[in-house]
Amino acid sequence: MQEHDSEACGKCTFVAGVDFIVVTPQQRRDCEVSFGTQFKAWLRLVDLEDYIVRLGTFTLPRWPGHATFWLFQCPRCGQQSIDHVHSNRPRFTCSGCESWLYVANKRFLDT
Ligand SMILES: [Zn+2]
Ligand SMILES: [Zn+2]
Repeated sequence: MQEHDSEACGKCTFVAGVDFIVVTPQQRRDCEVSFGTQFKAWLRLVDLEDYIVRLGTFTLPRWPGHATFWLFQCPRCGQQSIDHVHSNRPRFTCSGCESWLYVANKRFLDT
């Protein structure tokens, strides 16, 4: 398997792992969801997508390609996580509680 060359690609940034993706305080605020009234809204996918922040396009060690990474706050445990959309049934996985958060909006899909 050929490792993806981010310099030749020009569209993505190489990071050694998801933990190396830099998130600004403003991006953290943009995706912050208060629990309570908004918790129910989170469970509706249409509303969930308002709180997902695009961080950029990255490639990781041993990846053959690149993916867009997003910051989101898990409606179940409240932790902010970074993930790309996993294929098949498009979803993010929370790094805190490992919940699967399905996404309906096509703007999150890598094409
Ligand atoms: Zn690339
Ligand atoms: Zn969670």
